[in-house]
Parts: sequence; structure tokens; C-alpha cells
Amino acid sequence: MTELYAIYGASGCGRSLMPVAREQLARLKIKAEIVFIDDGLKAPAMVNGHRALNYDDFKQIAAENKFVLIAIANGKIREMLANKLEQDQIALWSIKANNTVTMDDVSVGAGAALSPFVIITSNIKIGKCFHANLYSYVEHDCVIGDYVTFAPGVKCNGNIHIEDHAYIGTGAVIKQGTPDKPLVIGKGAVIGMGAVVTKNVPAGVTVVGNPARILEKK
Ligand code: UDP
Repeated sequence: MTELYAIYGASGCGRSLMPVAREQLARLKIKAEIVFIDDGLKAPAMVNGHRALNYDDFKQIAAENKFVLIAIANGKIREMLANKLEQDQIALWSIKANNTVTMDDVSVGAGAALSPFVIITSNIKIGKCFHANLYSYVEHDCVIGDYVTFAPGVKCNGNIHIEDHAYIGTGAVIKQGTPDKPLVIGKGAVIGMGAVVTKNVPAGVTVVGNPARILEKK
């Protein structure tokens, strides 16, 4: 029996992360198949040279160990699928590009996807199923919760706390906090693309602009 690796989601996020997954197996000299799982598929198909199948069909494949990276940008869906995998005793897989840089005392939870050119500096704690897309960075002393998503080019400076399920849009800049007063992005907050965040963001709100302000619901 063999090991089987999978990228869950064959849409934009999954197809961008599959080459990172291939790179990772090559780096570790693991010869194994990587398939796509996508529940939008009624029947098995091929996507970018990989077998693609829905979760029920994936479960039927015989393999000694299965590892799954959930490559879907929506953190709520990642949580739902991570819970399903846990119930089925299928392990979460973490991947990172060859040119990702991680420095000292970095702890990243299971199921992370660190895309090319991501930099995570020192003394940083990150929860489950984190996505850091192309060219994002996390500076020193940040604490990041579970199911947090960084679109490309997020500049997360030092001493920032980001709570579970926050979504940080492309190119957002978050001002550094201090050791005694970190800047806090609340649970489930959404930071719009290009926003310049200069102060704490409450849970559940969306902020946009420079300086970032709460987008009132109409
Ligand atoms: N998807 C899935 N199972 C789920 C929810 C979503 O397989 O329970 C798949 C869905 O069919 C789609 C992909 O995940 O192909 C999500 O794609 P989308 O373009 O919405 O997001 P992105 O790739 O940008 O994260």
C-alpha cells in the first residue's frame, strides 16, 4: 500500500497550490501521487495532469496514509472540511514553496499553505489551515489564529494578533503593534484589498481604504 496526497479544491486556489505541493514532494524525495479532490465533480476527471475526484471517490482509494491540503480560500469551508477529514481520520497536509522563508521560533498549525515568496520571520505562532498567498509576509511576534487567510501581498508587521477566520485582502498593510499593546484584527474580520490598517479592527466587520475604516452595511 502507498501514501496518497491530495489538494482539496480544484478551482483557482487549488490549481495555484498544486505546483507548490509537487515541489514539496520533490524536495522531500517522496514519490507519490497527488490528486485533486473537488465535490463539484460528478465523475473522475483530469485537471492539469492530475486525477481529480470527489471526496466520496477519494475515500474509496486504497492507501496506507492519506494527506490532504485544503486549498479553498474561504476559511469557513476550510473549517468544515477539516472537521470532516478529522472525523474520517485523514491527516491534514501542510505545504510550502521552496523559496518560502521561515526564521526562528515559528510554529505553524496543521494544514498550512505557504505560497512562493512568503516570508515568516521570528517568534510567530500561527493556527490551523493558514493560507499565506504569494509575496505575503508576517513579521516578528505575531499571533495568528485558525483558518486565517492572506490574499497575495499582505504586509503583516510586528506585534499583530489576528483572530480566527479573519480574511486579509490583496496588498493590505497592517501597522505594527507593540509588545504590550499588539494591534488586534478581530475574529472573522475582513480587510479589503489595499487597506492600510492603523488601529484595532473589531470582530466581524469589514474595513477598507487608507486609513482603513469600517464599511457600514447598507
Ligand atoms: N468545494 C468542494 N467541497 C466543498 C466546497 C467547495 O470541493 O465542500 C470546491 C468547489 O467545487 C470549488 C472549490 O472548492 O471547485 C472552491 O472554488 P472557488 O473558486 O470558490 O474558491 P478558490 O479556489 O478561490 O478558493
